[in-house]
Amino acid sequence: MSIRQIYATRNEPSVSLEFFPPKTESGTRNLMERMGRMSALDPLFITVTWGAGGTTADKTMELAVLASKELHLPVCLHLTCTNMERHIIDDALEKCLNNGIQNILALRGDPPVGEDWTENDADTGSGFNHAVDLVKYIRQQYGDRFCIGVAAYPEGHYQSDVDGVVQDPIRDLAYLKEKVEAGADFVITQLFYDVEKFIKFEQMFRDIISNDLPLIPGLMPINSYSLFQRAAKLSHASIPQQILNKFPLEIQADDHMVKSIGVEIIIDIIEEIYRRTSGRVKCFHFYTLNLEKAIAQIVSQSPLLSHILEETESKENNDAAFVTP
Ligand code: FAD
Repeated sequence: MSIRQIYATRNEPSVSLEFFPPKTESGTRNLMERMGRMSALDPLFITVTWGAGGTTADKTMELAVLASKELHLPVCLHLTCTNMERHIIDDALEKCLNNGIQNILALRGDPPVGEDWTENDADTGSGFNHAVDLVKYIRQQYGDRFCIGVAAYPEGHYQSDVDGVVQDPIRDLAYLKEKVEAGADFVITQLFYDVEKFIKFEQMFRDIISNDLPLIPGLMPINSYSLFQRAAKLSHASIPQQILNKFPLEIQADDHMVKSIGVEIIIDIIEEIYRRTSGRVKCFHFYTLNLEKAIAQIVSQSPLLSHILEETESKENNDAAFVTP
């Protein structure tokens, strides 16, 4: 089922989950078990990341197909388009169709670590320079057979600096509009911790791009202080001072304490976004890093999301009552 359809039919706040493909078979088996347990969070959909340049193509596809066929989860495959030959994209799209995967997150991709691109040498002859080229290509080749998502950056993409202003979300918006006009059905954002920046971005998105397209905020649970700092830096996400103040030096090495404060922070972010967007934003996307605990705690402790686990539990009880003589 397409994400756009599922999104339209769910009115209650919900979650979606991002996973990355493990390198080994045992890693994949473990992750499948974890994803099975996380199905209790009734995700609207899950996504599977794609290594830029197609480096994880086989593993990404394997995990996406397993999650779709064995766990019956609605799956969205990430797909980058630069620094990669076109046949890899064609192959991935065909495999998706053959395996009932209808959702693609169309991305540009980044240069390999330590390398840099200019826009022109990002294109290796396949004709793709930006994510919009991939959105157009999928629509040209497959019409409406895919539901297409694209990425957005509430604080601006790290390359969107213009006239000395680094990370300019307004410059990005014009390109996001292009992606939507080319046929994108939904938008997932880069992770962020500054609610004010997201709220401002959401308002601009509604004014300039679309009133009703699903805009799904990306959130990363805080699993440890060092991971939190690293993820924010890599994603070019700022951390507001009032959040930093919650982690005085003496607790930074205490992962248990950091995680539990992190759970409260993410719950507050979710509540604030839902309230201030009057429920226009109703699905929250978690960058799981393939970890489950913090997300399970966020969902169970969040007044907005805890209904999910209650419903899963009552469904399981009903199913059990049905089969138990
Ligand atoms: P684009 O939309 O092409 O934008 C890239 C930059 O180019 C921006 O600065 C934009 O302003 C500018 N731009 C866009 N269009 C034009 C144009 N027509 N002319 C001039 N400038 C333009 N990376 C991976 O490798 N694998 C993944 O699985 C992955 N998953 C991701 C999931 C999400 C939700 C997000 C937010 C990012 C993900 N990324 C992933 C990272 C992503 O590939 C990088 O952020 C990349 O730098 C930009 O991708 P994009 O699709 O946003 O690119």
